[in-house]
Amino acid sequence: MNKFQILVVEDDVPVLNLITTTLKAHNYRFITAVNGESAVSETASHNPDIILLDLGLPDIDGVEVIRRIRSWSYVPIIVISARSEDSDKIDALDAGADDYLTKPFSVEELLARLRVTQRRLALMHNIGNEQAIYQNGLLKIDYSAGCAWIGKEELHMTPMEYKLLCILARNTGRVLTHKFILQNVWGSSWEKDISTLRVFMATLRKKLESAPNSPQYIQTHIGVGYRMNKVE
Ligand code: CA
Repeated sequence: MNKFQILVVEDDVPVLNLITTTLKAHNYRFITAVNGESAVSETASHNPDIILLDLGLPDIDGVEVIRRIRSWSYVPIIVISARSEDSDKIDALDAGADDYLTKPFSVEELLARLRVTQRRLALMHNIGNEQAIYQNGLLKIDYSAGCAWIGKEELHMTPMEYKLLCILARNTGRVLTHKFILQNVWGSSWEKDISTLRVFMATLRKKLESAPNSPQYIQTHIGVGYRMNKVE
């Protein structure tokens, strides 16, 4: 039996059944909720390891559910949204969701998202003793020295590129929105600054990635933002 317990919040019964059947087949433990109020109370009473949260719920808005849960818990939340709810997805990430799935999604996508989140959880437990050294695949960052390497080669970055790399690294496994990155690196969130972010991201990737066109570390989420992948 997989030791992770998942709370599945979904009011659409066929989708709920697809998810729970998949979880059952892969030995995940799960509990379910069909509205926002019960999602909040199930989280409080069962303390799940991961929450799969549909954004379009019959009672309270999914983004509001995230805000309430985030007031006391850091449990990873993967939101499920319809393609027409793209802006809701971004609001959900800004409210503290970790990742998202867009309907319709495949069973493989669902399992892949869960694996990413499980790896992130494992990483978070390690961070408990706040390491000064970050290691991900060949990428190494020494936060106290302010230096980064790929293998034995030191990366020569501008202060902004380094700051950008650190924000992504400290949130490995999470999808960060353009707004989140802009606020944390530049202290702004102007729409027009997204083009600046793209320029810095391109130069950072050239230094970081051995094949910038098929990046291994920093993943692009078109229209949403970026994620640092956990590299094996
Ligand atoms: Ca729904």
